[in-house]
Amino acid sequence: MAEKAMNKNSSNIMALAPNTSNKRETVCIFGTGDFGRALGHKMIQAGYPIVFGSRSTQTSSLIPKDAEVLSHAEAAQKAAIIIIAIQRQHYNFLTPLAEVLHGKVLVDVSNNLKINQYPESNTEYLAHLVPGAKVVKAFNTVSAWALQSGTLDASRQVFVCGDDMEAKQMVMDIVRALGLTPLDKGSLLAAQEIENYPLQLFPMWKFPIILSFCLTAFFFFYCVIRDIIYPHVYENQDFSFFIAISIPNRICPILALILLALVYLPGIFAAILQLYRGTKYHRFPDWLDKWMLCRKQLGLVALAFACLHVLYTLVIPIRYFVRWRISSYIISQVLNNQTQPLDNTNAWISDSYLALGILGFFLFVLLGITSLPSVSNNVNWREFRFVQSKLGYLTLILCTAHTLFYGGKRFLSPSSYRWYLPNAYMLSLIVPCMVLVVKFVLIFPCLDKPLTRIRQGWERNPQHSAQSNYIINKSAV
Ligand code: NAP
Repeated sequence: MAEKAMNKNSSNIMALAPNTSNKRETVCIFGTGDFGRALGHKMIQAGYPIVFGSRSTQTSSLIPKDAEVLSHAEAAQKAAIIIIAIQRQHYNFLTPLAEVLHGKVLVDVSNNLKINQYPESNTEYLAHLVPGAKVVKAFNTVSAWALQSGTLDASRQVFVCGDDMEAKQMVMDIVRALGLTPLDKGSLLAAQEIENYPLQLFPMWKFPIILSFCLTAFFFFYCVIRDIIYPHVYENQDFSFFIAISIPNRICPILALILLALVYLPGIFAAILQLYRGTKYHRFPDWLDKWMLCRKQLGLVALAFACLHVLYTLVIPIRYFVRWRISSYIISQVLNNQTQPLDNTNAWISDSYLALGILGFFLFVLLGITSLPSVSNNVNWREFRFVQSKLGYLTLILCTAHTLFYGGKRFLSPSSYRWYLPNAYMLSLIVPCMVLVVKFVLIFPCLDKPLTRIRQGWERNPQHSAQSNYIINKSAV
């Protein structure tokens, strides 16, 4: 018995040694369900001999034909790595197999139905059930369908975690052999986070999308009151068709500008807080942390609104209302036998407004492109900060100036204030102007120097921070 156990252990140790030959080691998969079969199929293609451990040893046409199907105990003896493609609630069938699984690498691929469904992760539960095994979490972010159909573009990354470095390395080698990218997430403590990952629904997009929805609704009703209801009440004119193009083309630039300003506003709050506290080793409030984390998404939503604004603007010359207004203006000049002289100031304002808009949009697109992972991976941290911070502020300045020039002389005209409500674009200037003014104040050396020192680790009052919560904040960009 002892000899048998020794033989078993020595075979496990041999199997765990790095494979230097080209021949792939046999891999065992427990469970012939959708995921087990899809992974088995993919691994056979990559040259791995596969043996399935199943409750029924009968093969079916669905099981890859080059694979063997054995009982769990027999299959486990044939391989050093066993992939458990079975739901967590059935894991207790592994307890009687503890002896045969001793020293093996068990790969937990399981997911749950809800975030934090169990107090401990499925992988920790598995490690607890089979204490002699080396448990690794992997493959749970890849779907059976993607494995089978080969459409792995969206999920090429495989998160791997485990306490045994050698076992983790063996699993990562398999991941690479399948043409996927392993990402080491550390010890088994990371398993719960990895299990929650596929259950998340755009967590970073929630705030930007809800915010843009609320702002869109607010500005839509604001514009309807000013541009449709007001003329209807006072001039008996029906401008309800403004809902199709005019109002969306008013809302889109407003949203683009406000959201772009909101990308930079948390950085301003963070700088003020750090200056006030005299340290960066003090946690930001939760709302500010969350806001900072979704700045990229806010920026991308802003870019989407800017793109829509460009599209809406391009169709202006072919709109019936615009063509009607221009022709009636020309006809009224002809009828009155007069030609309006060229107003140079207006020409300057109009051209500057367009030029600023074009430049602002160009930089906006550049910011969006550099936030793509494939591009940001190719620039260093300093270059990334330069683009996102310096060019970002320049974009905000250009877009704010574009709106200011659009307003031109209308800011002081009483007709801009219908029912005491200013034009919607005037409201859109509040946040960007605030951000730019405070940023301008913050670059004064008397504030910029201490802020830079604080971000490099200097503390105004070190005793105070010794008692406080030592959680290092991400330096605000
Ligand atoms: P499935 O199609 O329902 O297959 C599960 C397999 O578990 C069954 O085919 C069966 O295999 C085995 N099984 C069922 N009850 C059992 C029991 N009482 N005792 C022992 N074995 C039992 O499920 P699946 O979609 O393949 O998912 C398997 C695991 O992969 C799950 O943990 C899931 O979270 C994970 N996963 C699935 C996907 C996916 O896209 N499907 C993606 C990532 C991760 P035998 O009949 O051969 O014994």
